[in-house]
Amino acid sequence: MEPNTILVVLPHPDDEGIIAGTLIQYAKQGAEITYICLTLGEMGRNLGMPPFANRVTLPEIRRQELHACCGIIGIQQVESWGLMDKTVEFEDQELWIQRIMDKMKELKPSLVLTFYPGHGVHPDHDAAGRMTIEAMRRLSPEERPVVHGIAMTAHAKDLLGPADVVHDVTAYVEQKIRAIQAHKSQFQLLIGNGSFEDPKRLAHYRTERLWTYRFDD
Ligand SMILES: [Zn+2]
Repeated sequence: MEPNTILVVLPHPDDEGIIAGTLIQYAKQGAEITYICLTLGEMGRNLGMPPFANRVTLPEIRRQELHACCGIIGIQQVESWGLMDKTVEFEDQELWIQRIMDKMKELKPSLVLTFYPGHGVHPDHDAAGRMTIEAMRRLSPEERPVVHGIAMTAHAKDLLGPADVVHDVTAYVEQKIRAIQAHKSQFQLLIGNGSFEDPKRLAHYRTERLWTYRFDD
């Protein structure tokens, strides 16, 4: 059965681009998606290319870009929780674990998407994954949703085995790219010097891999 209620917990506006194809597919299948974006990415070094943001305007610009991106994907609920960008690991973990847990009890998602702890590459990614997994651990096994983690480290396959959730999102790749481009202040940085027409990049965008997190109990 396809998940009908999905909770996404990621730290930065634009992280959702990594799994945009998966989310587009779920949205098309009628899933109700809530996305908690922990920060506004206000410490991002990229201010647009050419620059059109500054330190003062960047948070609001990124909030608007986030909503534009989520609109294209089909995410119905977006929440910005306002944690400090680049320092999620130094926030009061207990407070946010409790908030995430409360959200799970309220929404009762059947699927949670977040970063796989230890494989996020960025400390904020790992912190978001760790807090989300910890919130889930505190639920009883019966009320615990399935969690699919994003693993970005080069050695993820060696440590976790091959991804057990592989989505071919070829059908949604254009929509996915439009969603990523909605992050106007960031996307050139995300794609580097390449373009979206680069065949290698397109091939990369067509497949999204996720790892199911297994709890001990
Ligand atoms: Zn990120």
